[in-house]
Amino acid sequence: MSDVTGGEGRELRALMARVPSVERVMASAVFEPLIADYGRTQTLTMLRATLDAWRTDAQAGRASVDALTDTMLGHAVSLRLAKHTQSRVRSVFNLTGTVLHTNLGRALLPDEAVRAVADVLTRPANLEFDLDTGARGDRDDLVNDLICELTGAEAATVVNNNAAAVLLTLSALAPRKEVIVSRGELVEIGGAFRIPDIMSRAGAKLREVGTTNRTHLKDYDEAINAKTALLMKVHCSNYAVTGFTKEVTTAELAPLARERGLPVAVDLGSGTLVDLAQWGLPREATVRETVEAGADLVTFSGDKLLGGPQAGLIVGRKDLIAKIKKHPLKRALRVGKLTLAALEAVLRLYRSPETLQTRLTTLRLLTRPADAMRLAAERIQPALQRMTGDAFAVACEPMFSQIGSGALPVDVLPSYGLTVRLAGGKRAGGQLNRIEKKLRAMPRPVIGRIADGALWLDLRCLEEFDEAAFIAQLEGEGA
Ligand SMILES: *Cc1c(COP(=O)(O)O)cnc(C)c1O
Repeated sequence: MSDVTGGEGRELRALMARVPSVERVMASAVFEPLIADYGRTQTLTMLRATLDAWRTDAQAGRASVDALTDTMLGHAVSLRLAKHTQSRVRSVFNLTGTVLHTNLGRALLPDEAVRAVADVLTRPANLEFDLDTGARGDRDDLVNDLICELTGAEAATVVNNNAAAVLLTLSALAPRKEVIVSRGELVEIGGAFRIPDIMSRAGAKLREVGTTNRTHLKDYDEAINAKTALLMKVHCSNYAVTGFTKEVTTAELAPLARERGLPVAVDLGSGTLVDLAQWGLPREATVRETVEAGADLVTFSGDKLLGGPQAGLIVGRKDLIAKIKKHPLKRALRVGKLTLAALEAVLRLYRSPETLQTRLTTLRLLTRPADAMRLAAERIQPALQRMTGDAFAVACEPMFSQIGSGALPVDVLPSYGLTVRLAGGKRAGGQLNRIEKKLRAMPRPVIGRIADGALWLDLRCLEEFDEAAFIAQLEGEGA
């Protein structure tokens, strides 16, 4: 704090006396449109905050009286209002190359799901009401038949996410008992989901068998004892064990489980409902194949390869699903009507496999032809080059996208996009970060990634309908 008693203090007091009265500024012509747009209360709050900030600056010797004119105050307040009223949840351009990006909200939903959600948002719905009998219904019934039809399972239930599905399954079927899992399958997903932790939260005891790279059927066999409740398999969603390896498949494990009177649960993670190989994508066991291989329960996410809303699906044997649904955690982990409406709409698309590739957004993005992305790159290149300026070179280049969200971790999809490098082959230091930050600060933030001395903007997830908006935003930031 500076001394405010001497000459400096007098000066400061004189400066402070120049701060106009709030009432007068609010009554000025400049503030009329702000009050009309944002209302008196918010405008007044922001004017006070602006003046407080000016006073703080003045005390630090950093303020000028020029900032106190009505015009300058109007400008400052309007910036504050715009920032303050901007919603915190914002849509972005995902140019990371990761289609199912957990931090960017995973699967994008098709229009059918959007319409279904809008309907239940604004109108009452039969969430737990049986329209045939007029009696109370079960919310799972809205999607059960569809899930069973698409997976070949006897029964199903839906919870908040797949982590919840696993937690609930273990809590209901293995409290104070042992669950046998291969050491090669003790996954951690996104930092917070770890099989050993979920196991202890559920009150079950993890019984690890085999080694990281090799687990044999006899390892499971020898570990079974009177306290065993479940044999469990977990999909290695975000890593691959390669080389000298041995994994016991569900089909191999199921007969042993049956012989010993134990259920097999498989946490599939992504849980795709169709064979992706038909679209040239890497093959992944489908939920139906896993059920047919003898899994008694299968858990998977709604917003990974399935392409729906955040949800966790548990499918399998009727008696086991009934037991799971009776557990008190089911009530705590249940989904709301928005999720059910979106999930039903997405699942319905699977009934027409021939149109799935165009209608299911996730699949459409994963199978987008490289040519479409290359042409988009060529159309966008000039605008991005103008935005970044001569110090940078913007090029159209082939690159590789990822499916993301732990689906098929080692496979990459040939893609196309734009790269930004320092012009003249110079090594880029913090300057690329500046471009990356500028893109991220746009009204609709653009999210790319910096790697190997370049900023990479993968165009797989920028579909044609969004391209004009993307270019217009770049041009708005031009030169
Ligand atoms: C993704 C994943 C989960 C967690 O699913 P959420 O829907 O994100 O809760 C659990 N297990 C496996 C194997 C996964 O791949």
